[in-house]
Amino acid sequence: YRLGYTAMSAKFAIVGSGPAGMYAADALLKSLPDCHVDVFEKYPAPYGLIRYGVAPDHYKTRNTSRQFARTFDEAAVGYYGNVEIGKDISLDELKEHYDAGVLAMGAYNDRKLGIEGEDLDGVYGACAFVGWYNGHPDYRHHQFDLTSKRVAIIGMGNVAIDCARILCQDPENLAKTDIAQHALEALRQSKVEEVFLIGRRGPVQASFTPAEVRELLHLPKVDAVVRASDLELDEHSKEVLSKASRNTKLNMEILQQIHDQGDRGNPRKLHLCFLISPTKIEGSERVEGLELVHNEIVKEGGVLKAKATDEVMHLNVDMVFRSIGYLGAAIPGLPFDDRRGTLPNDQGQLLDGVDGKLLNQEYTAGWIKRGPSGVIGTNKQDAIETVSRLKQNWQTSQTPQPKLVQHDLLDLLKEKKIQFVSFEDWKKLDKFEIEQGQQNGKSRQKICKFQEMLDLIQST
Ligand code: FAD
Ligand code: NAP
Repeated sequence: YRLGYTAMSAKFAIVGSGPAGMYAADALLKSLPDCHVDVFEKYPAPYGLIRYGVAPDHYKTRNTSRQFARTFDEAAVGYYGNVEIGKDISLDELKEHYDAGVLAMGAYNDRKLGIEGEDLDGVYGACAFVGWYNGHPDYRHHQFDLTSKRVAIIGMGNVAIDCARILCQDPENLAKTDIAQHALEALRQSKVEEVFLIGRRGPVQASFTPAEVRELLHLPKVDAVVRASDLELDEHSKEVLSKASRNTKLNMEILQQIHDQGDRGNPRKLHLCFLISPTKIEGSERVEGLELVHNEIVKEGGVLKAKATDEVMHLNVDMVFRSIGYLGAAIPGLPFDDRRGTLPNDQGQLLDGVDGKLLNQEYTAGWIKRGPSGVIGTNKQDAIETVSRLKQNWQTSQTPQPKLVQHDLLDLLKEKKIQFVSFEDWKKLDKFEIEQGQQNGKSRQKICKFQEMLDLIQST
């Protein structure tokens, strides 16, 4: 380390306790073993999309959070839940207390389609629906009109599949999971009969993964449907498939199996429809239908894209979900790439604008760094790249010298009357939710109200 200082002096802040933030914390401890890391999280509960994104019927995936809990058990790591950076504490205040920070705020907004009718009642973002069934405090009040019988979901990724699975399957399959109680009760009353997944490109370009599409073959009381014509590939896609990854080939095999399985007379149908794009959501006040255009695959700059033909179609639906990707949001005082919805950066080190100059104290990791794609594990390598850059700068003195006079963060939190949640507090909440779940035959009974979480922590 640089002359005169040991890594003992180094204090780092991480904004966001999702996978990216937690992998970054872990990488910092391993790279600069004597440093101290504080993780700030805007909600009382940690772990980001592991808690509020992963589908309840995949709740075992949430076990990834156990490794992050071990990171919090390290004496050198602090947790400050219920503290929103940019609102409760400004970036400038954070800079006064830390030598450098890793911004790992994720991306929790919906990308919009930008077509007529998108504001009608009955059009929802996947982000809100996912938040609702997962008991996210900001989305628990949302109302989804589940008296609708026919639903379209725009997008052919894993989130679209999650939403379709939750809408189609027998809610009793979800009863033992940690699904939010309000969602379970609403799904029990649901009238949904048919769900249409709408992909603008062909099956070779679908962005779901084999494990996720394979589940559709075995959903009780649900027939997944793929039309034979959708599996007849254009010349470009045939060529791509011949050299494609194992996952793409498996996807095609599974889609063929779904087609071969056919209609088994189950009460609910889940249609996977390819090469169509919505052009208008029809209705006067609420959704009455979808106008679509048939696409063909064209090659542009080496990439296979969807190009609209003049074949127009109509689909009778009474509810529409957008599931075309998440979008990051800006924090006041930080440079932002509005087009990509990310923080401009070079290998995780922030730039002062798109194509701008390197900043010294600010780093980034995860979805807000690279955009909203990749599974939980993808964020590990991504965070390691960021921390390697931070360490390199640290050792070559490009990061400002450690703060010799350390401001006390607790003083600041007290002065601002912020009721922060420590990791010990979270453990109490975690234990309570699991116990409540066990009493009700569920893996966990989530507390979905912000204030109820804070009151429970205080009372225990
Ligand atoms: P996030 O997980 O979103 O974490 C960001 C954190 O930052 C959040 O806790 C947020 O509250 C916090 N934050 C935001 N702003 C502030 C602020 N101003 N101050 C303080 N804190 C802030 N991957 C899998 O491997 N398996 C799955 O089954 C799976 N299911 C998924 C389901 C859905 C619906 C989605 C959207 C994604 C899923 N993924 C899954 C992908 C995985 O969740 C992501 O790769 C991962 O969560 C991204 O990590 P992140 O840390 O960048 O973002
Ligand atoms: P995604 O994988 O990027 O899928 C987005 C889908 O929306 C694609 O099919 C895309 O089609 C389509 N799309 C984009 N813009 C469109 C438009 N204007 N009109 C019509 N369609 C449009 O995103 P995601 O489903 O939100 O998932 C995000 C990440 O989380 C992914 O990496 C995913 O694997 C991960 N995840 C994993 C799991 C799991 O492991 N079980 C579960 C959920 C999410 P094009 O391909 O043509 O652009």
